[in-house]
Amino acid sequence: MSHTRNREEELAAEITRLKQERPYLDNLFTSFGPMLLLRERWMKDKRKEGTTISVDPLQYSGGITLIQQCRDLLDDDRWHDAGLAAAGAIGSGFRELAGDMDFLADRIRGGLDCYAVYRSAIDLKPEELQRKARETGVQELSLAVFLRCIGRLMLGIKAAEMATELASLSWAKGYCPVCGSFPHLAIIRDKGQRWLQCPQCNHEWGFPRMTCPYCEHEDPENSGFLFVEGKKGEMAFTCSKCQKYLITIDQSGNLRSTAADLLAISLAHLDILVQEKGLEPMAQCEWNTYQKPE
Ligand SMILES: [Zn+2]
Ligand SMILES: [Zn+2]
Repeated sequence: MSHTRNREEELAAEITRLKQERPYLDNLFTSFGPMLLLRERWMKDKRKEGTTISVDPLQYSGGITLIQQCRDLLDDDRWHDAGLAAAGAIGSGFRELAGDMDFLADRIRGGLDCYAVYRSAIDLKPEELQRKARETGVQELSLAVFLRCIGRLMLGIKAAEMATELASLSWAKGYCPVCGSFPHLAIIRDKGQRWLQCPQCNHEWGFPRMTCPYCEHEDPENSGFLFVEGKKGEMAFTCSKCQKYLITIDQSGNLRSTAADLLAISLAHLDILVQEKGLEPMAQCEWNTYQKPE
């Protein structure tokens, strides 16, 4: 019997391949690799019949996201497991955060409610996050990365559980219909269609190719593409109206389907180039803000 590789093994092999192909990004692949693998593993446990959430098609087509419509979207009994798994993956990718992650894991085993921490901290301003981190007993960076990671796991599994229902509805906005985040990446697929990728819940949705997802401006004179020499399919969509950019990769005709967040990380050198021109990413992610020159 031939051995069929599961998606997690495929992802691990893809990370190894990209590490060799792009040694200048080795640090990022090493740091984020365990989190990417965790997400792949986590998504296997999505519940086929688990969702009782219903979407109002009218509100939805008017741009009201799922999380705005359903206040209890994130009520779930999986936060405890998500918290422990996130702390483990972050600790193995980021050596400097490992101590804090061990501390958090101990607190979670001792009853720390990850959903309560997430809800109370996710919308805090940077100066308030510092206070929250002190209260929790960890560094600010540790708390920020931890919140991002558990948020991705829980939003991601919700988005996957809702995907079939959402597929039949129309969405015309540049922000994510599930969680409201702006995209971190656009993938061009067959027939030149542009698919925007959510950095939080991993949902993807179609959007007109020449319209700016951030300000919805669609004047070709004010938008353009920046390319890297020798990499035809890798570019950044830029909008001079809102001064934002969106990393874009042309995957049309490509049989390999690489996870969107891995693609985004593998293009982080392009983020640096575009940010040097004074543009900002539509979505701030750890891999496009950490290395920003001071
Ligand atoms: Zn989303
Ligand atoms: Zn714009």
